[in-house]
Amino acid sequence: MVCIAIDGPSGSGKSTVSKILARKLGFVNVDTGALYRGVAYYFYINNVDFRKIENLTQALKDIKIEIENSNHTQKIFLNNEDITDKIRLEKISKIASEVSALSEVRIYLLGLQREIAKNRNVVMDGRDIGTVVIPNAEVKIFLTASPEVRAERRYKQLSEKVSYSEVLKDINERDMNDSNREICPLRKSDDAIIFDNSSYTLEETADKLLDIIKERVGK
Ligand code: C5P
Repeated sequence: MVCIAIDGPSGSGKSTVSKILARKLGFVNVDTGALYRGVAYYFYINNVDFRKIENLTQALKDIKIEIENSNHTQKIFLNNEDITDKIRLEKISKIASEVSALSEVRIYLLGLQREIAKNRNVVMDGRDIGTVVIPNAEVKIFLTASPEVRAERRYKQLSEKVSYSEVLKDINERDMNDSNREICPLRKSDDAIIFDNSSYTLEETADKLLDIIKERVGK
């Protein structure tokens, strides 16, 4: 099975670009951020104080997260409820960033991610796919862009009433959390290709990456 690992910070266009790539390659796209958001959403609606280890352990036992891919669209289910749209709120992004620093959560989701990639060709996007989840991925891309460009993209995507400066502040905070956490921080794998797409559209980015991928895997 072939894995294309796409890692990078928030707003770098990973999810959109990975979706385009998966469609063009005929692969399944797995947006792993959605899994962290799913866990965060459970904690949020159930008011779980996840800093207490006993609450965290119990909550992880009670969570069943599943993803379903059809027509190149990923749906995520939490205990059989479709939460695909509900996990996109800014407050869930913040909780996801916090919970992703907990080793219990990362271990829980690691098994799930590897299981998903086991039997199919995937374009998997996240923060630690090339470094931890699938270290033997055929192609590893580290996608990035300036914080301002990333905040601008997020700002345009959000339907909530949030100012650009708030989005930029959130992006910078999440960068800090994601890059400085002790376990599985966001970092480029030594063998990943770095691609800064600040001056490209996401369609252009996908086209350029597709050329790189085709060259590597002979697709
Ligand atoms: O990519 P997205 O913004 O949806 O991810 C939400 C959060 O989940 C990120 O801020 C990051 O902290 C965490 N995450 C992670 N490892 C991944 C994917 C996401 O830590 N592989």
